[in-house]
Amino acid sequence: MPDTSRRTAGFGESVIRRMTRVAMEHGAINLSQGFPDFDPPVELTRALAKTAESGPHQYAITWGAANFRRALAEKQTRLMGIPVDGEKHITVTCGSTEAMMAAMLSVVNPGDKVLVFSPFYENYGADALLSGAQPIYVPLMPPDFGFDEKQLRAAFEQHPKALILCNPSNPTGKVFTREELAYIGALAEEFDVWVITDEVYEHIVYAPAGHVYFASLPGMQDRTICCSSLSKTYSITGWRLGYTIAHEKVSAVIRKVHDFLTVGAAAPLMEAAVTALQFPQSYYDELLASYTNKRDLFLHALDEAGLRYTNPQGAYYVLVDIGAFDGQDDTRFCEWLAREVKVAAVPGSSFFREPVHHLIRFHFAKKEATLKAAGDRLKELERLWKTRGYSV
Ligand code: GLN
Repeated sequence: MPDTSRRTAGFGESVIRRMTRVAMEHGAINLSQGFPDFDPPVELTRALAKTAESGPHQYAITWGAANFRRALAEKQTRLMGIPVDGEKHITVTCGSTEAMMAAMLSVVNPGDKVLVFSPFYENYGADALLSGAQPIYVPLMPPDFGFDEKQLRAAFEQHPKALILCNPSNPTGKVFTREELAYIGALAEEFDVWVITDEVYEHIVYAPAGHVYFASLPGMQDRTICCSSLSKTYSITGWRLGYTIAHEKVSAVIRKVHDFLTVGAAAPLMEAAVTALQFPQSYYDELLASYTNKRDLFLHALDEAGLRYTNPQGAYYVLVDIGAFDGQDDTRFCEWLAREVKVAAVPGSSFFREPVHHLIRFHFAKKEATLKAAGDRLKELERLWKTRGYSV
């Protein structure tokens, strides 16, 4: 058999997706891969049913159906406070996973460096390698996961072509402050670097934190490729509807890449999703109230189980410190947890560049009943740990 490609040799299977399989194997409550176990808004599923009858069922325009882009442009103009034009700036993609990949392929040349904060969502490392780029990492330091300004400047001095910014951040739950973003922006300007943002949790930011769109900072719009999706905001992770918002010149390049990668996002799903993009502000307020409630409930359950964690400011993940149990092998611990405690988490080491093995990630995008059941099981963790079949 001939060799497979070198570009795929540098990364492995997604640990997040693997943990979902481990959860299924052991019948564990799956708090690993972040997706809801509750339904999307009923208006949206009704719109989808209607679209099944009325269509469209054939390809939309490759960069996204015009009515979808129009509705999205109106919403994002309102939220971002900068003019977003659906005709020029938006490309609809198959999830923000494709959006990030298309953005990278559009601005990064083989051999370029790409700056990534660590811990990071695991796709970014693979995206960089698939683009032929070399990731360089800047640590975000616990407990608040801030960066060291000197370290960040030193990384910029290596002249990366792009920086990847996940805000609100997966897996830490960090929400970057306006000051931090302004510092990153000043460096991006000084060293002439693209900023590719992943803002899929833009609507899940807990008070008193607030979401600042990087593109909305003075002078940043033209160098920012904002990637986001409808997955988390409307609880439709399986619809795979994502998008990029970028200057018209780079949008034209992203549209080319997107066309040859996937041709387009699913036309009937875009049609149905226009309904969601037109929801009033009250929808987003209720979404946040619901996630705030889930966060409080789950953190309380962690407290009751005697577990230590970093309080998330945004997104729906929490990093839990397992150092008191097994601080050496978080993968082994997560497999034990799924098998014996019947709750699945993601080993933290899959997000860190540094050798960090004492953290695991839970997500809480689940019904209250699911979170309570997980909480009850986690209360048994310590007892079960004492009778475990392996030593550390
Ligand atoms: N973003 C989610 C997570 O981090 C799901 C990612 C995925 O599997 N596409 O768990």
